Amino acid sequence: MTQTSKHRHAVKRSALKITGDKLTELERLYRVLRTLSAGNRMLLRSSDELQLLKGMCDVVVTQGGYRYASVWYASNDEGQPLVNQAYSLGLPHEKNEVAFFESLRLSWAFPEQGGATAIAVLTGTPCIGRNLLSDPDHRAWREDAIRLGYGSLTSFPIRVDSAVIGALSIAATEPDAFNDSEVALLGELAEDLAYGVEHIRERARRREAEEIIQRMAFYDPLTELPNRQLLFKTVRTLIDGLKGRYQSFALLIIKVIQLNEVNETFGFQQGDKVLVAAARHLCESFGSSGDVFKVGDAEFAILLPSADLEVATRQSQRVVSLFKDQGGIPAHEQYASFSIGIAVYPGHGSEPELLIRRARSAMSEARRTGRDYAVFSSRLDEGCSRRLGLTAKLRDSINKGQLLLYCQPKLRLKNSTLCGAEALVRWRCQEGEMVPPSEFVPLAEFSGLITPLTHWVLETAFRQRFAWHEAGIDLPLSVNLSAQDLYDPHLVGKIEGLMATWGGEGGWIKFEVTESGMMKDPLVALEAINKIKSMGVGFSIDDFGVGYSSLSYLRNLPVDEIKIDQSFVRGMLDEPEVAAIVGSTIEMAHHLNLEVVAEGVENEAEKDYLTMLGCDVIQGYFVSAPMPIEEFNDWLLASVWQRNK
Ligand code: C2E
Ligand code: CA
Ligand code: CA
Repeated sequence: MTQTSKHRHAVKRSALKITGDKLTELERLYRVLRTLSAGNRMLLRSSDELQLLKGMCDVVVTQGGYRYASVWYASNDEGQPLVNQAYSLGLPHEKNEVAFFESLRLSWAFPEQGGATAIAVLTGTPCIGRNLLSDPDHRAWREDAIRLGYGSLTSFPIRVDSAVIGALSIAATEPDAFNDSEVALLGELAEDLAYGVEHIRERARRREAEEIIQRMAFYDPLTELPNRQLLFKTVRTLIDGLKGRYQSFALLIIKVIQLNEVNETFGFQQGDKVLVAAARHLCESFGSSGDVFKVGDAEFAILLPSADLEVATRQSQRVVSLFKDQGGIPAHEQYASFSIGIAVYPGHGSEPELLIRRARSAMSEARRTGRDYAVFSSRLDEGCSRRLGLTAKLRDSINKGQLLLYCQPKLRLKNSTLCGAEALVRWRCQEGEMVPPSEFVPLAEFSGLITPLTHWVLETAFRQRFAWHEAGIDLPLSVNLSAQDLYDPHLVGKIEGLMATWGGEGGWIKFEVTESGMMKDPLVALEAINKIKSMGVGFSIDDFGVGYSSLSYLRNLPVDEIKIDQSFVRGMLDEPEVAAIVGSTIEMAHHLNLEVVAEGVENEAEKDYLTMLGCDVIQGYFVSAPMPIEEFNDWLLASVWQRNK
């Protein structure tokens, strides 16, 4: 620009030296200068490319007094057309002049198809002062030029980002217009115009980039739903808008459960499909009645403006049952389902953070208790913070191998001999408190800690089993498997590795699994069970009677033993129906060649009754409560010693 502004001043000075008969030329230069500065103002004002082009054409005609000005862009489409972007005709002009302009079809392929404009584009330099009445390149338009009163034409290339994108063409009435100074100034105008276009495009690019960044910051790329940040903002705005008005709204946090399993079993692509299908289902279900957000890996949020608790509950029921009925997720519908947490403003919180946190803790509660949805209650807050604290401590204890293994003996009724033991994990947390397995095992299952926990139990059980083997004791040690363990892709390898490490045989250990664990995905569970069984390891169905308990179904399962749940043993002596169930279960299990273990046997009367019913094995306080391993080993020696006495 410094070069051009120097030039501009030089032209100004030379123009002012001109006197007398050259007044018209002086006048014209003065007009061009005026054009240039009007053009600059136009440049500053324009934010839109076409508006700038049109503005410049207008300035050239009105301030510069030219006959017409037009801007053409060179297109690479077939025939390489020059596409008119803007034009301005000097006043007064006739209707047919507009028609002529509108019908002009130019190409930059050859000069005879595009005249001065094409030459400027092709050469990248101005094409100056072509006499329209005599120039061979403008033969095609000569008649029109005469009729409309055009004398000469100059075209300036428009160079944007160092490429010629088109040309600015200016016509004057006189056939010999455009002297050097004038051309230099108009060339500057074309450069200014190009600079303006470049600037506007640059700004548009920046705006686009900002929009992309904005989208990335506020939208989930997979589902294209607004994300957690936008949820916070929206809830904030909603709350601010409701200040002083007595109106409620509800927030639902929806977790797609089993997504991890889908990811692990079928891969992330399938997992993503499940999420996209879930997002679509939610958007369709709520339509205009709620906004859907994607707020976590497998979590959505729904904002229901004006809803109260009743509406929110009804909507949750509806969305879950629709999802179940329609199996919204193709091919994997049996794996994914929703757990919904509900919090309502203002009752459950009047700050976005609190409301979202509470809806989420309600969702965790629904998930923990196996319900479709749960409403927040203050009880959850306390429970939730205890569970959070415990989870962190449990992770630490597992990492440091600080869990304990207890053993409980199993007694064969027929000959009153020990026939096995169950390994039961114990945890003394950092404060010294003994946390019961019924509390921390579900916590581990819930927080992904069950795999390392089970691996620890397995390692410890094998080490112990090796010690017994060395001491000549041959008792199978039963290890509990959680539902998720059956879907742990490393479980089989882990067992093989331990067998190899300790030189163990299949008969060393046994596994206890619950029916519900197997039912989650029977095919996958069955595959794992079969692989483990092929190593010679036995399987028991734990807590029999509590879950599906279909003996006919058991027929198809490769298990060796069922363990009648202690709740039946407890009720057996007082309630004839319970006694009948226990009796027929034992009978049918034997029919299927399965051994029967009764759990939780606490007294002699229970033992005797079970003996009478033909039960094979008992386990419970009557024989012994679970003991730390060292204690169990002493107990074992003492009881063997007692028997041998
Ligand atoms: P479970 O597998 O049904 O284990 C039997 C539970 O009954 C044990 O509770 C045991 O201490 C208790 N019990 C044994 N005899 C009696 C009795 O005569 N009367 C009464 N009232 N209870 C008796 P525990 O050790 O608290 O374990 C609870 C549950 O935690 C277990 O139920 C099992 O589902 C789970 N669990 C324990 N250890 C492990 C483990 O290593 N891995 C996994 N995945 N789960 C475990
Ligand atoms: Ca068990
Ligand atoms: Ca049990």
